[in-house]
Amino acid sequence: MKKQGTSVMNCVNLLREAQSVAVLSGAGVSTSAGIPDFRGPNGIYRRQYDVDPERIFDIDFFLEAPSFFYRFHREFLTALEKITPTYTHRFLAALERDGKLKGIVTQNIDALHQQAGSQSVLEIHGGVWSSRCISCGQSYDYKTSYKMTMAEEVPHCCGCGGVIKPNIVFFGEAVMHLNECQSLMHKADLLLVLGSSLTVAPAAILPSLCKGSIIVVNKGYVSPAYLAPDRIDIRIDGDLDEFFQELNTELQLGIQ
Ligand code: NAD
Repeated sequence: MKKQGTSVMNCVNLLREAQSVAVLSGAGVSTSAGIPDFRGPNGIYRRQYDVDPERIFDIDFFLEAPSFFYRFHREFLTALEKITPTYTHRFLAALERDGKLKGIVTQNIDALHQQAGSQSVLEIHGGVWSSRCISCGQSYDYKTSYKMTMAEEVPHCCGCGGVIKPNIVFFGEAVMHLNECQSLMHKADLLLVLGSSLTVAPAAILPSLCKGSIIVVNKGYVSPAYLAPDRIDIRIDGDLDEFFQELNTELQLGIQ
């Protein structure tokens, strides 16, 4: 792990002093569980598909050719059935039980924070747990839409025959819970930005709303477009699970 001097100890001190901690998490918190990120070295955007992979979550392309998304989605749901939360997810759940962590804004759709025991989670990009028909709006729960997704190339509504879409926010659609996300950032005296390249707005704009200290833990590039580097108090360029394990040798939270 690349770190500057006593960075981990400085993070411990900031956490000890903080009263209201918030988290913005991205795909990097789930890579060690086995879900690839988008822009990391093994990210989905580096794969060879017959269509530009950046179009997987493009709403116009979904409406034109939903089977491309569903090829990827079947793989994602199959992976989800097998995975469990990482050390990072479990550390954050323990930090909430400890009373410090007030909420997590996650860009992820995998619900691993909730599986780890976190209660206060805002899924700004939605999740896979419900779906709806894009024509008549009929809702489908996870179990039903999972079965349909595995059985059909593109699942269609039982009522009207329209295409079914999981309640994931695609590029070109409005994000969810934006007011609550902004309010969490405003109230935080310490923000942890974890496993995100900070390239997808408006999620990437949220850290700039925090008036407290900001720690960024991310392996590799973090875009300076929405969060000026001089607003970051501590930047750790390293693995998240290793970082939190090191932090917990000092904090001794009960990780479950
Ligand atoms: P991103 O792919 O742009 O950035 C992820 C960052 O995490 C990369 O910089 C990568 O180097 C870093 N990283 C990967 N593994 C790490 C580790 N073990 N320790 C520390 N850093 C690590 O992802 P983003 O900023 O979250 O934005 C992409 C969009 O796609 C978001 O909406 C995202 O949530 C979504 N997405 C979600 C999932 C999921 O639900 N798990 C997976 C892929 C993409």
